[in-house]
Amino acid sequence: VQFNKLRLSGFKSFVDQTELLISSGMTGIVGPNGCGKSNLVEALRWVMGETSAKRMRGSEMDDVIFAGSATRPARNIAEVSLLLDNRDRTAPAAFNEYDDIEVVRRISRGSGSNYKVNGKDVRARDVQLLFADAASGSQSTALVSQGRIGEIINAKPTSRRGLLEEAAGITGLHSRRHEAELRLRAAETNLERLEDVITTLD
Ligand code: ATP
Repeated sequence: VQFNKLRLSGFKSFVDQTELLISSGMTGIVGPNGCGKSNLVEALRWVMGETSAKRMRGSEMDDVIFAGSATRPARNIAEVSLLLDNRDRTAPAAFNEYDDIEVVRRISRGSGSNYKVNGKDVRARDVQLLFADAASGSQSTALVSQGRIGEIINAKPTSRRGLLEEAAGITGLHSRRHEAELRLRAAETNLERLEDVITTLD
């Protein structure tokens, strides 16, 4: 998949609806300190399923909602949409029938986030998996924020291995295996219970 367009509304300093076109090749964002360059990259990470408010430089997730300024009142909703081009048919099976995929994440003050893909409600997990396979997720090696290089150099071997696994595109497989193992364990417990019942009946 290819990123086409990022649309923000009420997100951090982007109170009015703002669109950023992402063409193939390089897209540069320039501007004075504090104008919102990092906020744009964070919006990208957020719509891809970021779960840590701390990694969004906040103390709770509601901090991504426009908090008001001297001239404008605060908002109660923030929304980020990411438009993807899937003409290369590389999206996971659940979304692969579409040429264009629009992922929308919306947060309402005090009541958390929800996600939609092409207008249908989906779980955060679905969105995270969509990007995990493309090695472009919220924790991806493809997104390097300020201070991250030093962090990677000083990282413990296990977290560095995580980065390599993501770069190799197998993170999605790992979390799918984990989900499958949980289901297997639940099934085993059910079987045991069933055996108990059978023994009682005998
Ligand atoms: P630098 O070049 O210094 O890294 P930058 O261009 O990356 O700056 P950001 O860090 O993206 O800038 O933007 C910071 C600005 O966003 C600050 O002015 C901050 O007040 C504003 N901001 C962050 N969260 C919110 C929010 N919830 N509501 C309103 N404004 C916000």
